Amino acid sequence: MTSWNIGDIKITRIVDVLENWDPTMLIPDATPENLEPLFPWLKPHFLNEDCTMPLSIHTFVIEDGNSKIIVDTCIGNDKTRRMPTWNQRQGDFLQQLKAINAPRESIDFVLCTHLHVDHVGWNTMREGDKWVTTFSNAKYLFGRKEWDFWKDEEDPFEKETKDDSILPVIESGQVDLVNMDHKVTNAVRLVPTPGHTPGHVSVLIESQGASAIITGDLFHHPLQFARPHWKDIADVDGELAEQSRNEFMQQYQAPTLVLGTHFATPTAGTIVKDGNSFRFDVG
Ligand SMILES: [Zn+2]
Repeated sequence: MTSWNIGDIKITRIVDVLENWDPTMLIPDATPENLEPLFPWLKPHFLNEDCTMPLSIHTFVIEDGNSKIIVDTCIGNDKTRRMPTWNQRQGDFLQQLKAINAPRESIDFVLCTHLHVDHVGWNTMREGDKWVTTFSNAKYLFGRKEWDFWKDEEDPFEKETKDDSILPVIESGQVDLVNMDHKVTNAVRLVPTPGHTPGHVSVLIESQGASAIITGDLFHHPLQFARPHWKDIADVDGELAEQSRNEFMQQYQAPTLVLGTHFATPTAGTIVKDGNSFRFDVG
């Protein structure tokens, strides 16, 4: 398990799924030819020799001594999904949580940067023929604006998601609908980064003068620091997402540590100037 210390706060990454994708499936402009100028810093961590990209689906556990917060809950087990590698998974996510002394019952808050299929899966788990909340003692903080959108919409990637991973949590009474700038604890707050979805948020952690920010899907891949204007087909509002990416890069340059929600190991780095654009520096 990989972890980082930000002042008094500990953040640990737990990986649910790691797979290789053709980047053009998400970002059509990300062809090998177009990516070539970025090879020096994208390889070897974020781009394979064959120009596929490793895509990690992981959660971040934030511990501040008083509370445990989990950010995005990945794919989950036993779920019926159209993506073959996400269908009926039997992963060891819950065992990994136990191994870092953060068993599911100990989690105080569950944050979802947005309500797409790969961010809500472990919200629930199968018990008999029912879906029950995995984090039985937690408050789940869903963005009010995000839920207002999805309650009438179908996730274009997986229509089952709402029924098995969101509605059971709402019915359990464990959900608080929050604003996009909600303060979770003294050290942890949400930052609005709309566009990928209407209510998409990033998560800012600040302690003892140090800071880190979790991207969510504002950035699927570090190549987007250099090419924020390339269309990402998963963005609900591409223009707004591009604007949010540009504002984010103005605001959270080094030394703020940027933790990518889908960035492969080493996952964390800083945004630094690179000519007229930016790149991701992993040290
Ligand atoms: Zn995602």
